[in-house]
Amino acid sequence: MSYQQTTKKPVTFEGIGLHSGKLTKIVLSPAPADSGIVFRVVGHQARIPALPGSVVDSHYATTLGVNGTRVHTVEHLMAAAAGLGLDNLDVRVDGIEVPAADGSAQPFVSLLRSAGRIALTARRRPLVIVRPIRVGTDSRWLQVLPSDSFRISYTLDSSHPAVGMQAISCEPTEKLFVEELAPARTYGFLKDVETLRKNGLAQGGSLENAIVVGKRNVLNELRYRDEFVRHKTLDLIGHLALLGRPLVGHVIARNAGHALNYELVSALAQAHGLDRPGLRAVPKLVARTADLAPAPGFAAL
Ligand SMILES: [Zn+2]
Repeated sequence: MSYQQTTKKPVTFEGIGLHSGKLTKIVLSPAPADSGIVFRVVGHQARIPALPGSVVDSHYATTLGVNGTRVHTVEHLMAAAAGLGLDNLDVRVDGIEVPAADGSAQPFVSLLRSAGRIALTARRRPLVIVRPIRVGTDSRWLQVLPSDSFRISYTLDSSHPAVGMQAISCEPTEKLFVEELAPARTYGFLKDVETLRKNGLAQGGSLENAIVVGKRNVLNELRYRDEFVRHKTLDLIGHLALLGRPLVGHVIARNAGHALNYELVSALAQAHGLDRPGLRAVPKLVARTADLAPAPGFAAL
């Protein structure tokens, strides 16, 4: 059983926000055991825990908020923290959004690694999946099945010729996360840019922080041939990190996205009582191996 971790010293990063297009700065500092990842916005009192109950919007990016104070686009930073096994972190945001960086989680991984890491005396409380949960429709869905470890299998089946069918199945260990997932960038379709911008989104988006997909091909150089499905997996890791506990289960995804990811997080939170304030500290969901037998009907899902 592993122990919770945090960083050793504060580190700072700044840049343009993907959606707001505004300059924003974050300071990531060590935090005590069992505090989880907490966002604070400079000039505001609110403490915004990175938990399912704080999600106020999940359409084009994940927005967390408490009492009107909001932080947009937290998912790549959340993914970096989860991928590195950082359970507790204080995130101070000077602005309204986490910087876009290069559109991936790589810059946050480098930043967090430069902050060092310490193990705390409190143990982790994994969220062990004991029965399957599924959200979505026939063509876009997410499900989680009991498994001995955290695993993601993702299939992206796009009609766009530059994306096509891409699939990945992996156990996101730290090494795999850092080398194979963190550098994968967010992407957008050129045909959607105008509508997004009209709606106040993607104001800071450019070829510097996103893969842009044109009519037939990609306008910038890809880092991996299947960078799209890798980024989808990265986003999913960032969203699952909002559970505030490391997941032990096999997550299977098909054509999911931010909103569906959040639907799964909500369903998991509800099924495990994480959405009820005050119950988060009760480690009653740490199941023994004997409890992990698949529920009847599991094979038919
Ligand atoms: Zn993303």
